[in-house]
Amino acid sequence: MKKIIIAIDGFSSCGKSTMAKSLARNIGYLYFDSGAMYRAVALYCLRNNLIEGDKIDTVKLREQMDNIKITFEADPATKNSVTLLNGVNVEHEIRSLEVSRMVSQVAALDFVRSEMVEQQRNMGKQKGIVMDGRDIGTTVFPDAELKIFVTASAEVRAQRRYDELKARGDNPDYNEILENVQLRDHIDQTREVSPLKKADDALLLDNSNMTREEQEQWLKEQFIAHTR
Ligand code: C5P
Repeated sequence: MKKIIIAIDGFSSCGKSTMAKSLARNIGYLYFDSGAMYRAVALYCLRNNLIEGDKIDTVKLREQMDNIKITFEADPATKNSVTLLNGVNVEHEIRSLEVSRMVSQVAALDFVRSEMVEQQRNMGKQKGIVMDGRDIGTTVFPDAELKIFVTASAEVRAQRRYDELKARGDNPDYNEILENVQLRDHIDQTREVSPLKKADDALLLDNSNMTREEQEQWLKEQFIAHTR
């Protein structure tokens, strides 16, 4: 069967990565979480004092971009893909609210985006990948054979994020998460470089009222239809 590129874009916390991972596992494709790459850059900034208040030192970050190496590997225990920043597993740290607060500002920087996009295109050279993000179908892989754009209401997405943080032992505040989701939506949609928008040829999926199983089934059907 021919191998294709599957681009899954959409708003924050709408379950893109859960569906993308599950599909990739099911069909034997590699999964790449492009948001994790921007999160890792934001974590690097926080750890290296490149953020003061909520301002990023863009001069220093630009100088240090070559020091930031982001890779993925399979966790030996769970087999899930984890994110490495300069060889160290940062999968847990990049999901913190502290990183979430800064990531959209970091991702709006043109020199950060051009570097990440180049790395993402390299990951897709052999095809047979599922990548999720905000600009995968519009900018990274405009020729992807299957493009999905996922959305759900901000409240539903904030609740999902709340449940996720709670399940991992954090003590989240729902309103703070809702504000963060809405702020990220705004920054992602209004930035100059590769703003979040549906590609003309992407299929729209509003999963506000769908179970995880229904979404996975729907996605699998789209994959079959596009590889027949
Ligand atoms: O997908 P996730 O919510 O983890 O992504 C974190 C942030 O990274 C997003 O809010 C967005 O600002 C940015 N991002 C992006 N382009 C991508 C993936 C993520 O700008 N392809």
